[in-house]
Amino acid sequence: GSLIAYVEANTNNGVKGHVAHADAITSNDAHGIASSPVVPKKKKVVLLGTGWAGMSFLKNLNNPTYEVEVVSPRNFFVFTPLLPSVTCGKVEPRSIVEPIRNIIRKKNVDISFSEAECFKIDSENKKIYCRATINSNSKGEEEFLVEYDYLIIAVGAQVNTFNTPGVEENCHFLKEIDDAQKIRKNVIESFEKASLPNLSDEERKKILHFVIVGGGPTGVEFAAELHDFVNQDVVKLYPMVQHFVKITLLEATDHVLNMFDKRITNFAEEKFGRGGIDVKLGSTVTKVGDNEISTRARGNGGPTSTPYGMVLWSTGIGPRPLIKEFMKQIGQGNRRALATDEWLRVEGFDNIYALGDCATINQRKVMEDISEIFKKADKDNSGTLTVKEFQEIIDDICERYPQVELYLKSKQVRNIFDLLKEAKRDAAKESIELNIEQFKSALSTVDSQMKNLPATAQVANQQGAYLAKCFNRMEECEKNPEGPPRFRGTGRHRFHPFRYRHLGQFAPLGGEQTAAQLPGDWVSIGHSSQWLWYSVYASKQVSWRTRALVVSDWVRRFIFGRDTSGI
Ligand code: FAD
Repeated sequence: GSLIAYVEANTNNGVKGHVAHADAITSNDAHGIASSPVVPKKKKVVLLGTGWAGMSFLKNLNNPTYEVEVVSPRNFFVFTPLLPSVTCGKVEPRSIVEPIRNIIRKKNVDISFSEAECFKIDSENKKIYCRATINSNSKGEEEFLVEYDYLIIAVGAQVNTFNTPGVEENCHFLKEIDDAQKIRKNVIESFEKASLPNLSDEERKKILHFVIVGGGPTGVEFAAELHDFVNQDVVKLYPMVQHFVKITLLEATDHVLNMFDKRITNFAEEKFGRGGIDVKLGSTVTKVGDNEISTRARGNGGPTSTPYGMVLWSTGIGPRPLIKEFMKQIGQGNRRALATDEWLRVEGFDNIYALGDCATINQRKVMEDISEIFKKADKDNSGTLTVKEFQEIIDDICERYPQVELYLKSKQVRNIFDLLKEAKRDAAKESIELNIEQFKSALSTVDSQMKNLPATAQVANQQGAYLAKCFNRMEECEKNPEGPPRFRGTGRHRFHPFRYRHLGQFAPLGGEQTAAQLPGDWVSIGHSSQWLWYSVYASKQVSWRTRALVVSDWVRRFIFGRDTSGI
């Protein structure tokens, strides 16, 4: 006779409260004798967000000693890498979303879901304030609060407009499934509009001028999708307007796909150039009006305005208001994302985790710690250490900070190891001393190499899985810690720190050609990589249902072409 109560309480500010958990309640048995329940208190985990990080956490969590409440304004997960394919009808929107309840019903963990957004985090009192996103009214009646023992923040990020005038009002974004549907409708409507009688050629040109701002993977992929759509379907369905179509890609820096290998960047720029996509490099957008987009070219500086029909804004991401507010509250100021340690805990908190696009592992602290390690080792303050001491330090650093190890192995700092090897070859190896400053300057190269992890699904997915595994083994690892020795304090950390494994990246370039950059700087561009792309994205689907839908959409498009109905 016991029960875990889920109590609704009214708090003094009128916001309804979901109390985290109630202690086990004693009940009387049939003879009126109180039985003594020994029900362990379930720890309440509150998860914010059902994107890549949140979904991956839920899929991998299998410890039934937690009670999990998921809060997210959308009750489904979106497979974002296929969003560009939705914009021109290659894949249907429903094929790339998975209802979150489908994921949680298969779990042996007590998980509930609330369709709401969190608007405030009260870390002192361990509660969050939420607002329902369905049928919200202005009286605040749909506001409620949720208490937590552990809070996992995985709310992603929002589009960054850099406060450019007119962007919010006049541009499309490509972040959510609604965005992709709106773009698809707008693209089709543009062709219908341009096909109406009584329009001048100038008007048709304006309507069919598609501008993409930002030469990152999303902008490039959308440009490629649109170009394919024009070449494969528009030529058959709208032959009379096909020659009015113009696709312009504006990029503020010197190249598109900056995060990719030079070979891919060059190939993409040349391919787009040959295909008639106007790639304007070094071009910064200063304003987006109702009908015209204003740009400033680097160098000659003069502003130019060009009429457009549709603009896609895809220039990167910034923090959501909830995260900005929380960072202010906890003294993290104006950062790009919430700073965490290598165990994904928000700096200064033991029970708040942040992962995915809303978080970043603080590398500055890592370098401070490494400097400390050197200082400690140099007991006689001579500025030199023996080879053996150096070797021990390297092992220590690599154990504490796996991400450093990754960069220590990179080409730029290989000379450190050469130095060590040379010294070791010497017969009097133990007596040889190496200069700390020399070593430190090599490590500062490591520092500049240790850029923040990219804001990708790959990182978010791995972080969600890592954190779930930590939660699965929390009790076990509390008793037998398996992590590295604590730097400040005694004993070991409970867990190994998060280690990112880069599996490579793709850039679909249209015409059934994809650029693939795989680990070890292995680059492949062409039709074979396109098949690799199809197989990777089919295998990465979160359910057999979406896998079947996506593959059947691809087959349908091969046989019948894209669906061009404007619904
Ligand atoms: P998201 O997936 O954005 O999820 C955030 C979740 O939080 C959502 O469910 C949202 O509704 C919810 N949320 C928002 N606000 C609140 C709130 N206040 N309270 C509670 N919940 C909230 N990455 C790759 O690795 N490969 C690719 O090919 C690739 N292609 C991409 C293509 C496009 C078009 C886009 C937009 C992104 C692409 N990415 C890709 C990047 C990838 O999608 C993101 O890095 C990833 O989604 C980050 O995961 P996340 O869980 O942090 O955030």
